[in-house]
Amino acid sequence: MQETKEIFCNVCGKSLKVENDILKEDAFEARKQWGYFSKKDATVHSFTICEDCYDNMVEQFAIPPEVTEVTEY
Ligand SMILES: [Zn+2]
Repeated sequence: MQETKEIFCNVCGKSLKVENDILKEDAFEARKQWGYFSKKDATVHSFTICEDCYDNMVEQFAIPPEVTEVTEY
């Protein structure tokens, strides 16, 4: 049984290519389970951001994200 789930960029709404549940177009996938000290206690927030929107988002950062090279693939 093959389930095709469409994934959209949460920022711009564009649909991302998904084949057999694998994102064929690389995107930033975020998932956060909020804990006791937040106002969102016991909820999980998740969203996907396409590469273009990711670049735009990161440009707004006061401190850029840490980038480490992957040595083992
Ligand atoms: Zn986007």
